[in-house]
Amino acid sequence: GAPKDLYGNNKRSLGSRGIKSRFIPPVRKDDDSEGASSGLGECTSSPYTELMTDERLKNIDAKMVELIMNEIMDHGSPVAWDDIAGLELAKNTIQEIVVWPMLRPDIFTGLRGPPKGILLFGPPGTGKTMIGKCIASQSRSTFFSISASSLTSKWIGEGEKMVPCNVCCCEDGATTGDDDRILVVGATNRPQELDEAARRRLVKRLYIPLPDAVNKLSEICWLIKIHDLCEEDIKNVSEKADGYSGADMANLCREAALGPIRSIRFTDIQHISVDEVRPISVKDFIAALKAIRASVSNQDLNLYEEWNKKYGINS
Ligand code: ADP
Repeated sequence: GAPKDLYGNNKRSLGSRGIKSRFIPPVRKDDDSEGASSGLGECTSSPYTELMTDERLKNIDAKMVELIMNEIMDHGSPVAWDDIAGLELAKNTIQEIVVWPMLRPDIFTGLRGPPKGILLFGPPGTGKTMIGKCIASQSRSTFFSISASSLTSKWIGEGEKMVPCNVCCCEDGATTGDDDRILVVGATNRPQELDEAARRRLVKRLYIPLPDAVNKLSEICWLIKIHDLCEEDIKNVSEKADGYSGADMANLCREAALGPIRSIRFTDIQHISVDEVRPISVKDFIAALKAIRASVSNQDLNLYEEWNKKYGINS
């Protein structure tokens, strides 16, 4: 099957629609000098050849179409909100401003209309990409993950500089014809580098912070199945993991899970049965806490908080 992460999520498991489903292309600017005949159109063996004959794509730069089509993540099972630990405030906000409007475009019209762009910002490894994937699967949309640095400014907009961030475009699958919608979800660890034009485009800017102690605790419980830690131990470990991101916590649990394996003698490893591998203990976690350190500095955290106060919607 598809590769899974520690949470059992498929690595590329977004959306439920194929490349032949309705797709709203980025429109090529008139002053574009690169012709639509370059690149993809000439490649007869390309799986996208059929797509290129689509009338709606006739004004689109072929290379750009190829770039985007290659990035569609459309395999495996969808990501659910429950797969994302903590972040209740962010999840609730996103449901309200993005998912419901996409599911019920008839109710969310006019003033209640959804934003065209949202930005998820915060330290690396806090679940921003997971949220992007979740939005796509929950709103029955196609999800593209495109690194902004691989896109030219003509695609993003009027030539403004986009920062290094991922841009996901979701097509609304619930509507037809002119009601088709694209939502741009930007995710960045470096919001400070966004210029004014990009900020304007990404109207709703949502801070995705480090998990608090309670969420770390639930992450540990979720990740480690066979262990002999009591509740107090788990609480202790989660408090010691101060400043750890979700990704750091996953790495910590991974490292601790190796503890029992390391205590098996090399000569025994080939014959030992699965039941004989001892449970993960609190000592494994204490050792792992030394090996896996927090990846986000306090200084960086201050920057995020400041930016959130200035531009965020949940400050
Ligand atoms: P970001 O996009 O914020 O840099 P990701 O969403 O790619 O981070 O998360 C990286 C990995 O860290 C995930 O695949 C997951 O294993 C783990 N992770 C981070 N935050 C969370 C969270 N809130 N819930 C569950 N897993 C998380």
